[in-house]
Amino acid sequence: MKENQDNLMEKIVSLCKRRGFIFQGSEIYGGLAGTFDLGHLGGELINNIKQSWWRKFVAEREDMYGIKAAILMRSEVWEASGHVAGFSDPLTECTKCQHRFRADQLTDTKKCPDCGGELSAPRQFNMMSKTQIGAAEDSSSTAYLRPETAQGIFVNFKNTIDAYHPKIPFGMAQIGKAFRNEITPRDFVFRSREFEQMEIEYFVKESEWEKSFEHFQKEMLSWMSELGIDMEKVHELEVLPEDRAHYSKRTVDFEFDYPFGKKELFGLAYRGNFDLTNHKLDYMDPDTNERFVPHVIEPSFGVERAFLALMLSAYAEDGEGENLRSYLKFKPHIAPVICAVSPLLKNKPELVAKAREVYALLKKEFGRVMFDDNGNIGKRYRRQDEIGTPYCIVIDFDTLGENPDLLDTVTLRDRDSGSQERLKISELVSKIKAQL
Ligand code: ATP
Repeated sequence: MKENQDNLMEKIVSLCKRRGFIFQGSEIYGGLAGTFDLGHLGGELINNIKQSWWRKFVAEREDMYGIKAAILMRSEVWEASGHVAGFSDPLTECTKCQHRFRADQLTDTKKCPDCGGELSAPRQFNMMSKTQIGAAEDSSSTAYLRPETAQGIFVNFKNTIDAYHPKIPFGMAQIGKAFRNEITPRDFVFRSREFEQMEIEYFVKESEWEKSFEHFQKEMLSWMSELGIDMEKVHELEVLPEDRAHYSKRTVDFEFDYPFGKKELFGLAYRGNFDLTNHKLDYMDPDTNERFVPHVIEPSFGVERAFLALMLSAYAEDGEGENLRSYLKFKPHIAPVICAVSPLLKNKPELVAKAREVYALLKKEFGRVMFDDNGNIGKRYRRQDEIGTPYCIVIDFDTLGENPDLLDTVTLRDRDSGSQERLKISELVSKIKAQL
């Protein structure tokens, strides 16, 4: 097996469109930069990523409370959080071609990288997306589409305490959309203007922050590996004090070797008690009646970056020339399609009927099952390999009893090795379940 890094991004972007994972947002009207629409397979894959995260960080834990907060939030929230004043990037504009750039991403801040023209002096550009709520268009109707899911958690801190009376340490978690008016959306879904985050705010006593920080550092790495991200391409970067947010005492960025460079995948930050203090929130310890402002550890994950790192980790090629095959080696619990069921020939009604029967059985059990009778078997295997389907099941004449010893057996082909085994239909469910 050789993983071909040449033009890997182009291959992934083209595969995503061709096979219906991800499309450019508003594509038929020329596209809306920084937005993407998910096709059926992309939707399934992203659901599986989010479910796997929720299971590990919320469902399997006793100390985590999940929430789903509104995307539109009052401007006071963002004033308190510091986003109105400080959530900005330095913007510079070419005086000749009017193209805009993030000044901190340029090597030469004087010369336009597109046309060589002169660049303006950088000014701070706030990245929040503003909107109006209701019929009156005054400042009281201004609302923001949240630029991070974290504040939706903080503003529900009191609600969660009043409803569930959690004991510290405990966490609150949320998966949801975030919006940033990025100056230069780029690198496919890596830097989008509309994206999803999976975030945790873990509330601790100040004296215990280090223990929780290290715990989440390990848990984040273990989830990446469970997902199928190539851990050789993941690097932990201890963010230097001068590069950290002023309230943060420690930040670790998890970076990934993307084809366009080593860039942030996820982040883990110790936020002190900055946010709760600004929202004037605190906690009363029910055992000691002591009131204090908890400190916060924040593991933060971008769904689209997880998707991209996973696609780049899973993409593989083998064979050469006409026999070149590309496949996505997704783990079965993450694959958008767990198995595909095919009749050997599509013009033999008895084969099709039996294949439909097996398909119905597996579909009921696993949901993510595809019936595929297009083209010949070889082509079907290639197509399923390309979308990362771990198993292909074929119903042939032996299934129907041509060889009586093989009655009610099928072939099960493994995506990565291409090897096939013959097993009874009645064994299929347990065989596949064992891999999930
Ligand atoms: P970057 O430095 O790459 O702009 P950031 O440090 O601003 O990222 P955070 O504010 O820490 O990012 O956001 C938490 C996570 O959300 C990031 O680790 C990343 O996975 C994701 N994320 C942030 N901005 C974007 C974006 N524009 N598009 C897609 N995902 C994003």
